[in-house]
Amino acid sequence: MPTVLIVGRSNVGKSTLFNKLIGKRKSIVADESGTTRDAVVDRVVWYDKEFLLVDTCGIFEGREDEIYEKSKEMTINALTEADLVLFVVDGRRGLSSEDFTVADLLRKSEVDVILVANKVENERIYRDVLPDLYALGFGEPFPVSAEQSKNLDELIELVVKRLEEKGYDLTKTAELSENIVRVAIVGRPNAGKSSLFNMIVKEERAVVTPIAGTTRDTIDELVTIDGKNYLFVDTAGLRRKSRIEDFLERVSTLRTIEAIERSDVVLLVIDSTEGITRQDQKIAGLAEKRGKGTVVVLNKWDLIKHAERRAQEFIDYVHEKLYFIDYSPIVFTSAVNKVGYKELMRAVNTAYESLNRRVPTSAVNSALQRMIAKPPHGIKIYYGLQVDIRPPTFLFFANKTEIPESFQNAIRRTIREQVDPFTGAPIFLKFKPRS
Ligand code: GDP
Repeated sequence: MPTVLIVGRSNVGKSTLFNKLIGKRKSIVADESGTTRDAVVDRVVWYDKEFLLVDTCGIFEGREDEIYEKSKEMTINALTEADLVLFVVDGRRGLSSEDFTVADLLRKSEVDVILVANKVENERIYRDVLPDLYALGFGEPFPVSAEQSKNLDELIELVVKRLEEKGYDLTKTAELSENIVRVAIVGRPNAGKSSLFNMIVKEERAVVTPIAGTTRDTIDELVTIDGKNYLFVDTAGLRRKSRIEDFLERVSTLRTIEAIERSDVVLLVIDSTEGITRQDQKIAGLAEKRGKGTVVVLNKWDLIKHAERRAQEFIDYVHEKLYFIDYSPIVFTSAVNKVGYKELMRAVNTAYESLNRRVPTSAVNSALQRMIAKPPHGIKIYYGLQVDIRPPTFLFFANKTEIPESFQNAIRRTIREQVDPFTGAPIFLKFKPRS
């Protein structure tokens, strides 16, 4: 799907325009904390056509030196990978030097630009600033008022026309929106994360749409495989080769935590020749605590001698070291030999489906009755039901709310064994006193 970027200095009304153009539906990558740290992306649907719209949320804002400094490479990347840019300026107040900085960047990147004058509610005022706007060198602006929804349909029509002239097919395809599986590839440097990502994209013949993040040089990539959408979060480090500063950056735990936070499924990549470290255990624990799906990837499997005979030994090893996520699928891969990518994507799907699964209350309670472990002395569990997904969360009514961890694990085991294995997904439990 072609990507259209909304670009402009601060306060020209980019977010308002974005929301109006997507028709105020929920944005798929909106940052939950309410800050505008992430770029926001959504589809614009126009009759039987659609394109992807990205609000860059401020990468192009600031003084010239700031804009460049913020992450020159990323800014330029985002621009060169966009199919069209809506360069938004203020049609009421006119231009500032920031506008010229942005114009410069756009010219250098040689991307296709539609100049949009926003806040045009008053014809007379607009006529006064119009000569200024020409000075940007992008010809006649297209006047709109995002706030008053003026001329927006016409703007969409113009975008569609421009994209079609460039040879894009905008016919509506797979349902995108909420059906995106967000995937984080994490693990120690050199475990083979980049190689795995590149293997998946190449071997699965994926269609890839880069989505620029903001203040940090994060790039997410929307990867479409057989009509299914995956958002691989923070792939910036995975796409570049290791210069020294990249190396340092790739070790950054903060970055890993952020990637996990923004994902649904975490791929924990292990170098099979090196084994599982404390850091791997920490990352796995974090993913579990945050309610993320997990898949354990044993990469560099080609380097293991007599590998076919040793699979079970490695599985046992993973279960021992990562016992707290022992529900995770384990996949053997070799990025150099292009082995394991189908299994890997299948495991991602499995984990995601588990995260989203709801099981009937009757099944929970009949399992409760057949529970193998006896409750510790003095504890009684009366009744339970699943109250949430992502992750699957169960509420139990009991005579106490302080339930020992060991018994909580017994309950989880019972659910997995007797109701649903929830492969790849953690199970959260809550307890309430029976009223
Ligand atoms: P990252 O730091 O986790 O992204 O790791 P890279 O993908 O950059 O890989 C680190 C090194 O391991 C590179 O030299 C890769 O060619 C190599 N590598 C990655 N995957 C495999 C694999 O499956 N088998 C072998 N033999 N080497 C691999």
